[in-house]
Amino acid sequence: MPQITPKTTPIYQTSVFTFEDLNALELYFSEPGKSYMYTRYGNPNTEELAQEINKLEGGAGAVVTSSGMSGILAAVLSICKAGDHILCAEEIYGGSSTLLSQELTRLGIEVTYVPTADTYTLSSYVKPTTRLLLAETMSNPLLLVLDIEKLAKETRAHNIKLVIDNTFATPVLTKPLALGADMVIHSITKYISGHSDVTAGVVICKQSEDLQRVQKVMMVLGLNLSPFEGWLAVRGLKTLRLRMKQHSSNALEIASYLQQHPKVEKVWYPGLSAHPQHELAKQQGNGMFGGMLSFKIKDDTEAVNRFMQGLQHIPFAPSLAGVSTSISYPMGTSHRSLTPEQQQSMGITTGVIRLSVGIEEPEELLADLEQALAQV
Ligand SMILES: *Cc1c(COP(=O)(O)O)cnc(C)c1O
Repeated sequence: MPQITPKTTPIYQTSVFTFEDLNALELYFSEPGKSYMYTRYGNPNTEELAQEINKLEGGAGAVVTSSGMSGILAAVLSICKAGDHILCAEEIYGGSSTLLSQELTRLGIEVTYVPTADTYTLSSYVKPTTRLLLAETMSNPLLLVLDIEKLAKETRAHNIKLVIDNTFATPVLTKPLALGADMVIHSITKYISGHSDVTAGVVICKQSEDLQRVQKVMMVLGLNLSPFEGWLAVRGLKTLRLRMKQHSSNALEIASYLQQHPKVEKVWYPGLSAHPQHELAKQQGNGMFGGMLSFKIKDDTEAVNRFMQGLQHIPFAPSLAGVSTSISYPMGTSHRSLTPEQQQSMGITTGVIRLSVGIEEPEELLADLEQALAQV
């Protein structure tokens, strides 16, 4: 057989690896990371993905998982046991709050949600059993921006771990570990893979003791990612920086356009100077503001339907961060299970639409939005 030296990593679609003899087996245990045994424990494709993401986030190492949700689960279970207490930002991804309040509570882990106004003053929420706080760099769908450095000072003062879901910002904008976070998680499903064809997650740790715990939870609970999904995500990750630049410049252009449109009542985008955390976002976001924005037309279901039906090129898809633009409807999807009072207090009303801005030519997107808004 000729010597094969592929430029890119092939897909190691195998569940197990073979050993020459007992010496090779001993080497596997004595030199971790030098060889592979079983794909649930580790595989070259998932390992490549973990290492590439870890480089971007600047951690001690990373563990990739089968989804963003299993990444959050691995992070929390690596730290908490029955009897422990978790703090969670009030504005959090719906799946995360369901995991914490409906499943982890069944395992004896207690959860308290910290209202947005109290984010940086945790004294009245911390108990002797509190182990961690979970929050997002930018919230969904209203793009509240978290001051990670300020929050990290507070969590350190209370001796609890800070776990940041950096899915919306990506390390191209913000690197939470450098700002004081202990762990970072991502839904790789979103920007990191970027093409709406992968479901995966990752946990990046600042400390190697944390990393070993996450690794163990991933292996023992079977939260591992498949080689093929790992390979696809590595492929997507190669263009993350380029994509984030285009997502961000497109979103800024669209947000500015929507802001002056007579049928649009409000726009939420950190890149607009009217956004309450614009200065923080600028400084924490490496000069970019990401590809997610929300806007409000009139609070009328029929108007929302006419807008959606009117769009020719932008589909309604309840996910985000792909190369092609899509819209979503928070009240009917991510925030469906909240009470009308909760929705109202967060500002999520009938007319609020979320836009995941892709990397198309901005003129195409503006034209589609223009003609759909005309039908509202
Ligand atoms: C999508 C998402 C998740 C969950 O990720 P999955 O890959 O769907 O499991 C977690 N956090 C945020 C902010 C997300 O957008």
